[in-house]
Amino acid sequence: MINKAVKAIRTKKSRPKKSILRRWSIANAAFFFVAILIVAFASFRIVLSTIDKSNKQSMIQSMNNLVTPLQESDVPLSVKNLKSYLKIDSDLEINKNEYVIQTSPVLSNMIGQKNLSFYIYGNNKKLIFSTLDKSFPFHRDTGGKTVLINYKGSQGFLLSKAISSVKSNQIVGYALIFFNLDPFTSLAQEIFSYFVWIALVGFVTAAFFGYWMGRRFTHPISKITGSMEKVAAHPDEKFVPVEIEQEDEVGQIAKFYNSMMNRVNYYIEQQKGFVSDVSHELRTPLAVIDGHLKLLKRWGKDDPKVLEESLSISIDEISNVKLMLEEMLSISRLENLPYEYLMKKCTPLKETANALTNFKLLHKDFIVELDNKVIVSTEIQMDPSHYVQALNILLENAVKYSPDIPKSIKLTLRESGKYVEASVSDQGMGISKEDQNLIFERFYRADRARNREIGGTGLGLSILSKMIKQYQGEIKVESKLGEGSIFTFKIPKVKS
Ligand code: ADP
Repeated sequence: MINKAVKAIRTKKSRPKKSILRRWSIANAAFFFVAILIVAFASFRIVLSTIDKSNKQSMIQSMNNLVTPLQESDVPLSVKNLKSYLKIDSDLEINKNEYVIQTSPVLSNMIGQKNLSFYIYGNNKKLIFSTLDKSFPFHRDTGGKTVLINYKGSQGFLLSKAISSVKSNQIVGYALIFFNLDPFTSLAQEIFSYFVWIALVGFVTAAFFGYWMGRRFTHPISKITGSMEKVAAHPDEKFVPVEIEQEDEVGQIAKFYNSMMNRVNYYIEQQKGFVSDVSHELRTPLAVIDGHLKLLKRWGKDDPKVLEESLSISIDEISNVKLMLEEMLSISRLENLPYEYLMKKCTPLKETANALTNFKLLHKDFIVELDNKVIVSTEIQMDPSHYVQALNILLENAVKYSPDIPKSIKLTLRESGKYVEASVSDQGMGISKEDQNLIFERFYRADRARNREIGGTGLGLSILSKMIKQYQGEIKVESKLGEGSIFTFKIPKVKS
């Protein structure tokens, strides 16, 4: 399954089916287009409502002027009686004749207003007078409000009022005022068409701009995917970090990717190194055992001295290999300590005292001094057996690397803020500055030739530093060649 996927990656450069870039530029353009249209439509509506507001008052005023004299009639309005109410001093037929309008003081007042036309209907809803169009359709009373209507392709505001006689209180006719919006709508249409053009040009520009911006954003991502493809296709090649200068979110992704890959690589290298170190370290004792067994086969049967020496060397080497295997197991266990271990607590003073009692039994030739500055009840966040193991590694090393007199070791316990510190100092052979940086590495042994006689695997301090790290602690060494060493580790106290 995985092989297939890797093969697929190796054979073709993968391209996303749905490109963010394409979607981004289309969305950008569409958004711009729709936004412009919405603005155009909204401005059109705003213009209309502004016109409506500014004309409404004058329409109502004109309506009152027109209706007031007509309310005097107590009979239904007709072409004939309308003449006297509108004070038309003429024999001419009442129609949209300009002369008629100008001779009427009522009408001439109102007719100066552009776009306004007036209509009067009898109570039978038949048109009896109009200033413009003879066939304007009747519309019932609009209740003092203007309404937007379409008439013969023209849009406009209409105000209609029933005329009720002040004498008889009967409806004698109807008056209508129509405000034609044609000049405004044609202007608005013209503006709207400009908007449409702007929207179209905007669409194309936004698409290009969106594409350009998108490319800028996604270019670093392409670099990361390119690097991923390379890693998948050639996992054995050295990882080259992605170079991205930008400090934004994509830059952060690249940073995380680089550090993640560096970590993965580090662990892979560690793994490889571990295997090669182990095989290398095992080769020497196995070669020694092999040599002595051959020696035994050839001479040993007859020579008790060779037999004795070869057997004891072989036994020593085998116990060394055994120890090495145990320590390696211990390292691999420490790589991932179960949660319950990390949650365990221990009382350093109590555990140190116990460890020292055992130590003194085994190393009677050593003077061990405990300098304690920790109160009895202080607890640290560490499994007790690991704490004792840590102390023992340091104490055993102090013994191993203090071949000459004075054979004295000092163990100090003290509290330092949130931590408890334990240090083991000896007056042994000490460690050079260069070696101090390396002794925590697996299998590293300073002065190999000399240390071979002392014995050891080069794993103790590596185990110790792994363990301390797991418990969120720290370890350090101070040493002077020929004078002695102080190893100090600190572990967080239990949070109260
Ligand atoms: P080992 O002791 O089995 O060789 P360690 O990991 O415990 O492995 O130590 C690594 C190396 O660090 C040792 O080989 C030794 O050279 C050096 N070292 C450790 N502790 C001391 C010490 N107390 N004094 C001098 N050298 C030390």
